[in-house]
Amino acid sequence: MATQHTYDVVIVGGGIVGSALAYFLSLSNDGKKVAVIERDLSRLNGSTGYAPGFVGQFNESEVLTRLAIDSVGEYLKVPGGFDQVGGLEVATSTAGVEKLRWRLETARERGLKAELISAQRAAEMAHDLVKGDNVSALYFPADGTANPAAITGYFQSEARARGVEFVEGDVSEVCRGSGRVKGVMTFSGFIPAERVVLATGIWARNLCDFEVPIPVISVAHPYMYGKYREPKPYKSPFVRYPEHHVYVRDHGPFFGLGSYDHKPIAEKPNETAVGNWVEEFDTTLHRALRFIPEKTNLAPREKFNGLFSMTPDNMPLVGEIPGTEGLYIAAAVWVTHAAGSAKFLTQMIKGETLDAVVRKALDPSRFRGCDMERLERESLHCYNNIYSTHEAI
Ligand SMILES: Cc1cc2nc3c(=O)[nH]c(=O)nc-3n(C[C@H](O)[C@H](O)[C@H](O)COP(=O)(O)OP(=O)(O)OC[C@H]3O[C@@H](n4cnc5c(N)ncnc54)[C@H](O)[C@@H]3O)c2cc1C
Repeated sequence: MATQHTYDVVIVGGGIVGSALAYFLSLSNDGKKVAVIERDLSRLNGSTGYAPGFVGQFNESEVLTRLAIDSVGEYLKVPGGFDQVGGLEVATSTAGVEKLRWRLETARERGLKAELISAQRAAEMAHDLVKGDNVSALYFPADGTANPAAITGYFQSEARARGVEFVEGDVSEVCRGSGRVKGVMTFSGFIPAERVVLATGIWARNLCDFEVPIPVISVAHPYMYGKYREPKPYKSPFVRYPEHHVYVRDHGPFFGLGSYDHKPIAEKPNETAVGNWVEEFDTTLHRALRFIPEKTNLAPREKFNGLFSMTPDNMPLVGEIPGTEGLYIAAAVWVTHAAGSAKFLTQMIKGETLDAVVRKALDPSRFRGCDMERLERESLHCYNNIYSTHEAI
């Protein structure tokens, strides 16, 4: 697909991040020509299509907490986009409770509602997912579960209605010259653009070399769906067991459970964000299931190895990439932070005043001078501490 005109912005990737960016750019009605180029517009082949949608707004990183609160505000506007069922973090030891206490105080300082509750109360709130013999739990009433497909579809149709073009095409390369971006090459031709945004998730490093290290590392992760059953007449908060790296939710007609409790595995993606099943993951899921009450009868109906991005500080990379004027990235962004991150990048692209703290924390050039192999190791190391961040502020 070769075009005559030059786009103001070409976004490569139509997952939740690229679609949210298209939507927020389209809101300004400034006549700018924006296109999203996506390999397959008929289905979500990237991580967005496989994410179970747990949205916990509190994060050790203040920046991520802010981006999550902003994102939830947007998702609540999307029909069927967000179910504010609440979130529970369950501690099984006194050391775990100490961590919850810190999270409680810090969350409250940041304006999030949170409450430390007894294990019995947690078991009442989520009796299919929590046993009563744990120590205590932290309850976040404003958390919930996102429907990433509904949100992405909404952003796409709203952006399309405001003139954004969605083009099915496979980008093979970012084209550059004289220190700036010129456009992208697809398998059906060149598409000229003033600005190019890489919103390609786990494929973030595929389309050009970078002047700085861009440590977006695709990792393997097990998730399972339980057997179909009648939907429950009540809503359950989603539940995390942070000490054990396990998380579980009610999907409506079945339960779903995932676990980070295994040796981290880097895995290069093919065409979709699903890798081959790793045998060791059976043990991981089996171990995780011991937290679920027996009466729930949770057993895998379907299990898969979903791929998503890790970075050395568990923070996304969002902003302009140094060395090529007009080249941007928005990668390693969770569903939890996608709308907020896209709004931030919209401000940057439009030349608006930016929050300096957010800019620094997400700066894609923050790993300048670091050894890539070390960064990959550090990214993998972060996998078992998925909710810990090392925000550079
Ligand atoms: C099993 C699993 C569980 C998860 N759980 C959660 C969770 O509970 N909460 C949460 O917040 N997040 C979760 N995530 C993470 C979340 O899904 C991702 O961080 C998020 O969806 C990334 O969105 P994205 O738009 O950046 O990437 P993607 O959704 O991967 O989209 C990238 C798009 O780019 C396209 N693309 C790539 N290369 C090209 C090219 N060369 N040309 C054209 N198009 C291209 C792809 O086709 C794809 O559609 C989970 C992920 C997985 C897999």
